[in-house]
Amino acid sequence: MAEITTPEEKSLNFIEEIIEEDLKSGKYKSIVTRFPPEPNGYLHIGHASSICLNFGLTKKYPGYTNLRFDDTNPVTEDTEYVESIKDDIRWLGFEWKNELYASDYFDTMYEYAIKLIQKGLAYVDDSTSEQIAAMKGTPTEPGKDSPFRSRSIEENLDLFARMKNGEFADGSRTLRAKIDMTHPNMLMRDPVLYRIKHAHHHRTGDKWCIYPMYDMAHGQSDSIEHITHSICTLEFVPHRELYDWLIEKLEIYPSHQYEFARRNMNYTVTSKRKLLQLVNDKHVSGWDDPRMPTISGLRRAGYTPESIREFCDRIGIAKRENMIDVSLLEFCVREHLNKIALRRMVVFDPVKVVLTNYAADGSVEMLTSEDNPEDPNSSHREIPFSRELYIEREDFMENPPKKFFRLAPGQMVRLKSAYIIRCDEVVKDSNGKITELRCTYLPESKSGADTSGIHVKGTLHWVSVAQAINVEVRLYDRLFRVENPASEEGDFKDYLNPDSLQVISSAYAEPSLKNIRFSDRCQFLRKGYFCLDKDTSEEKLVFNRTVTLKDAWAKEQKKG
Ligand code: ATP
Ligand code: MG
Repeated sequence: MAEITTPEEKSLNFIEEIIEEDLKSGKYKSIVTRFPPEPNGYLHIGHASSICLNFGLTKKYPGYTNLRFDDTNPVTEDTEYVESIKDDIRWLGFEWKNELYASDYFDTMYEYAIKLIQKGLAYVDDSTSEQIAAMKGTPTEPGKDSPFRSRSIEENLDLFARMKNGEFADGSRTLRAKIDMTHPNMLMRDPVLYRIKHAHHHRTGDKWCIYPMYDMAHGQSDSIEHITHSICTLEFVPHRELYDWLIEKLEIYPSHQYEFARRNMNYTVTSKRKLLQLVNDKHVSGWDDPRMPTISGLRRAGYTPESIREFCDRIGIAKRENMIDVSLLEFCVREHLNKIALRRMVVFDPVKVVLTNYAADGSVEMLTSEDNPEDPNSSHREIPFSRELYIEREDFMENPPKKFFRLAPGQMVRLKSAYIIRCDEVVKDSNGKITELRCTYLPESKSGADTSGIHVKGTLHWVSVAQAINVEVRLYDRLFRVENPASEEGDFKDYLNPDSLQVISSAYAEPSLKNIRFSDRCQFLRKGYFCLDKDTSEEKLVFNRTVTLKDAWAKEQKKG
């Protein structure tokens, strides 16, 4: 598991160090950061780390954070994604100062491009993308100048205007910066700034048929918004030189780019493009499938914003890429759910217990139990107890090994918040399957008022047959069966875990679950943490398992 540090011992991360220095030196009085998603998919856990970083900095230091949709690629973008991104950021607990769109700056960017042409720093190239690539050179060999590189400023201005006016076909011309085809940084070898794309844009409609490339859009948007610290991931390190070049030549507000390592988690993929394939190919039920590493998937699975923020805080930021263990995320959610979850009993695979010494007249006794023993002011619920109960089939063994502290012939266990019972007789059908366990209960062993003097090692969850409600339970496991599916040979989808979803369509739950709300979190005793799924209907409650109890239960057992 990743290193766990407590907040007190945490030192500043390298970006905080830079910011504190900038504030101290008076370079800035306050800072402006931005979160710049491309609206081409739903946000995932990697984005959460960038969100927590950008918004977290302006919570800690004076300033604010913008939400800027990086919508310069008309083809892959959609308003559905814009809405989901806003929902996810708010749900994580952050609020942006301004909601902005790179496409709002298309006019300004166009003017910037003209300014570069006028300064002799950009030209229209008629080469195809293949020709451009062929002239690019390699890291060890210089590139070659395009035959169109020496066009006059007038000709370039005319051609660029005609590109904008839609006179040319897609891909037939580009606008390129005129820098240096022998530059050691390949990205500085006359990078393409604008391309022709006759495509409808989700915000600007058909106004434009030329679109700025990432490098011509991102830094310029940062500058327009007076972003002081533009934080992105490491793959943009080589872009920084071009980022600075464009700002310098355009003589605009000098934003600065800082890079941190992308956060990847094991047993999943964190790439919108790959996640989209899982959705399109129906390997999952949608972007919010609880197995997805998307924020909406984690939310549906029952993760809390607190637990995700805690996770991002613990992993911090780094300058080198590394894989984060998903068990750290699970640890964080267990910690939080242990504090807030309502304890409930649900039997997944029942076997009937009949208490032969309990009144056979249908009487029902209402027992009470704490909703959450971790909470000293916990509320209580009532649980019906009667002659016929269900316990988990796996909690009984006819010929148990030595350390089996659950139910067995002649052996005693406690039923949680109820009584101690002893198994007297096993009833089977003609196939040898156990149909009933005939037991006696110890009336003087009632939880909270136990005078029996008997100590048993095992405590089982149970429900009363007559009052139990039928619920569906969905158990999720890792989506992939290998740690890093994206790095495996062949298609990453070949490494999906075929057993990532197990549905128990009729589990038996204590009746208090009838009143459960979507915002509630539950711990099904000895089973895990659960929450209500949106597929719940009038007829049936459907629960998702957020995470197993493993660690919490191990601790619980040590205490007990
Ligand atoms: P994807 O490959 O999933 O589409 P992306 O980087 O293209 O990721 P963007 O929408 O461009 O996605 O990202 C918005 C912001 O989130 C960027 O600043 C990006 O650097 C950051 N980001 C994206 N993925 C991660 C990650 N795995 N870890 C940390 N930050 C990330
Ligand atoms: Mg991107």
